[in-house]
Amino acid sequence: MTPPRKRVLLAKPRGYCAGVDRAVQTVELALKTYGAPIYVRKEIVHNKHVVATLEAAGAIFVEENFEVPEGATVIFSAHGVAPEVYEQAKERSLRAIDATCPLVTKVHHEARRFAADDYDILLIGHEGHEEVIGTTGQAPARIQLVDGPGDVDKVTVRDPNKVVWLSQTTLSVDETVATVAKLREKLPMLQSPPSDDICYATQNRQQVVKQIAPECDVMIVVGSRNSSNSVRLVEVAKDAGSRAGYLVDFAHEIQEEWLEGATTVGLSSGASVPENLVEDVVAFLAERGFADLEEINAIEERLVFSLPQDLKRDMKAAGVTAG
Ligand code: SF4
Repeated sequence: MTPPRKRVLLAKPRGYCAGVDRAVQTVELALKTYGAPIYVRKEIVHNKHVVATLEAAGAIFVEENFEVPEGATVIFSAHGVAPEVYEQAKERSLRAIDATCPLVTKVHHEARRFAADDYDILLIGHEGHEEVIGTTGQAPARIQLVDGPGDVDKVTVRDPNKVVWLSQTTLSVDETVATVAKLREKLPMLQSPPSDDICYATQNRQQVVKQIAPECDVMIVVGSRNSSNSVRLVEVAKDAGSRAGYLVDFAHEIQEEWLEGATTVGLSSGASVPENLVEDVVAFLAERGFADLEEINAIEERLVFSLPQDLKRDMKAAGVTAG
């Protein structure tokens, strides 16, 4: 009998989004423009490999501004920061370069605008995530965190006619819809954000994983445990019919027993994952007989964000070019 054909369905789009690409380039180009060391507040993006590579190039990762020597250069991560973080940088005379993803900045603007109009804001997101801390900091007196449908019962608002929900950019689309539906049962006049807060990259990566999951025995997602969008991809895959789903930082973390009896493996990666880590997984699977590779291309992504203005100005003065 012919053995079953073992194949890999490779999701596209996967990996780097425009916001991560911009943030990583910001650190690389700041190193070229100002020289090492460059300080980075928090992980620039949530990926172990990216952080280790930038560290090797001269970036120093810190948790807070007070760890940065006075007058040095500090970069704020793609996840965004609260306004007080800019103030602290000013007090320490730091040269602050803001690598916040423009799509997170958009949510910050929404939060400030609705707070100025005296709305109560229900921020759907994961407690303790850096993006949630940064967004809450835009209007702390007006924002309440709703961490999934289970949090809805404890929501209290001043005026049920003046409430809006906003969200973290990297949530599961389906879970957010469920949370909003539950909030609406309690607050029928709840307003929606003017445009999607869950970003295009999160939505696209989830959409293609959902599409291929029913055919998969196993879905492998390359990404770090603290990467919200990567963790969500594993959940989405399992919800959409993949028999199993695993998150790995590196190919060598894949356990042989995950592949036992499998004929179709799905493969994707989070928005902060460089492509070479996915190529390593493809090679690992090929060595185990999964040599038939099919890329499932759901959506073309063309979005590119320009670099932070201050960095662009200083690059020009220093004669540094991107790429
Ligand atoms: S995942 Fe979305 S919000 Fe986050 S950096 Fe990428 S594009 Fe921006």
